[in-house]
Amino acid sequence: MNFSWTRHRFSGGALALDVANSVILRFDPARRIDRFAEVEQMDAFPKAAAEFSAERALFGTLAPMSDGNRADFITLREAIDRYFRACVTKSETSVLLAELLEATAVLLRLGAKGSLEAETACSSLRLLSAHEVERIRICGNCGWLFVDRSKNRSRIWCDMSVCGNRVKASRHYTARKERSP
Ligand SMILES: [Zn+2]
Repeated sequence: MNFSWTRHRFSGGALALDVANSVILRFDPARRIDRFAEVEQMDAFPKAAAEFSAERALFGTLAPMSDGNRADFITLREAIDRYFRACVTKSETSVLLAELLEATAVLLRLGAKGSLEAETACSSLRLLSAHEVERIRICGNCGWLFVDRSKNRSRIWCDMSVCGNRVKASRHYTARKERSP
């Protein structure tokens, strides 16, 4: 299958959210794709993150994942998604926060400094500060999580050039269809 980690796939604005967004259409069981289900895709991620992630200046190059840490890394990814998504939707978060902190601690203990797993753990800790949490959004098209760092905090899409345009195009199509039945 033809797949590459493009700039668009790092629209999260933080490594932890880019990792969470490795699941495409997470809540659509028919179309959901987990990009980390294939080891090759997980292994190609660090190099692309060093090129495209908004936090790349903080970690530089990322060492590849240790085989033994993969399962804990996926547990962390799911904990990141559940906790920050619940923050955005103003749901109950106390248990989810505990799970996120536990998963983070596991990888801080196991992961070598500068590895994908350790840096993802550090990134999720940075996101926990109040002013970061209040800027996290859910993309109105694809459901990805992203940090809205725009001045007026008005971003709706993870990536205007992909999700914003897709929604505009489908609105345009619907409007045309309605005009000419
Ligand atoms: Zn999107």
